[in-house]
Amino acid sequence: MLIDTHCHLDFPEFDKDRDEVAQGAKNEGVDYIINIGSGLLASEKALELARLYDFIYATVGIHPHEADKFDDGAKTRIEELAKKDKVVAIGETGLDYYKNYSKAENQKILFTYLVKLAVDLRLPLVIHNRQAQEDTLKILKQAMPVKAVVHCFSGDANFLKECLDLGFLISFTCNLTYKKAQNLRALAKSTPLKRLMLETDAPFLPPEGLRGKRNEPRYVKFLAQELARIKETGLEELARVTTENAKKFFNLK
Ligand SMILES: [Zn+2]
Repeated sequence: MLIDTHCHLDFPEFDKDRDEVAQGAKNEGVDYIINIGSGLLASEKALELARLYDFIYATVGIHPHEADKFDDGAKTRIEELAKKDKVVAIGETGLDYYKNYSKAENQKILFTYLVKLAVDLRLPLVIHNRQAQEDTLKILKQAMPVKAVVHCFSGDANFLKECLDLGFLISFTCNLTYKKAQNLRALAKSTPLKRLMLETDAPFLPPEGLRGKRNEPRYVKFLAQELARIKETGLEELARVTTENAKKFFNLK
């Protein structure tokens, strides 16, 4: 039993065969899928999927890329969505100074707002960080205690340590299987099993061997195998602990 804690089945890449992909994953041992909301419309679609499938849960959030468009109307809408059934977290949210699709100032305003919303609603946070470690930590520390997972981990060893010290969970994606991902594998090795969750971030970042193709929740097994190897533990044990972590984090029944 595995849980894909971060994917985007609402994306157009799955328009043609969404049902097949979702059911196929379930049939191949993915017991739950967390569909992440990366904007208002995406969050609505994530909720729609959660209504359709009992094994899919949703998060609602606004990606830092969308921060320049964030206004009062968006606040009202995201607050409504966050209170719906089967919403298990706020996110993804965070800071992205790599792509910088929105101004850093606006990204910080949006992130701060969503962190507060999560704290108010007692929901965990799904954090996106790219080259913004310092500001990400600063905003999260101001709101402590918060429950958060740093998704698609891409920071350095110091950032990892700080996140672990704050009690956060860490999730790695299938990019851990890439030949050049030695640094990432070293970070995964030093992350306690009790703090790890699995995610595909599908349709992005397909595992080695399937690069150039669309990623899917069913491929979370390749990540599980790689992590089991890195952590020098059995696949069953890795699946058991990461599933337990995810169930507890997202409060899955
Ligand atoms: Zn994502």
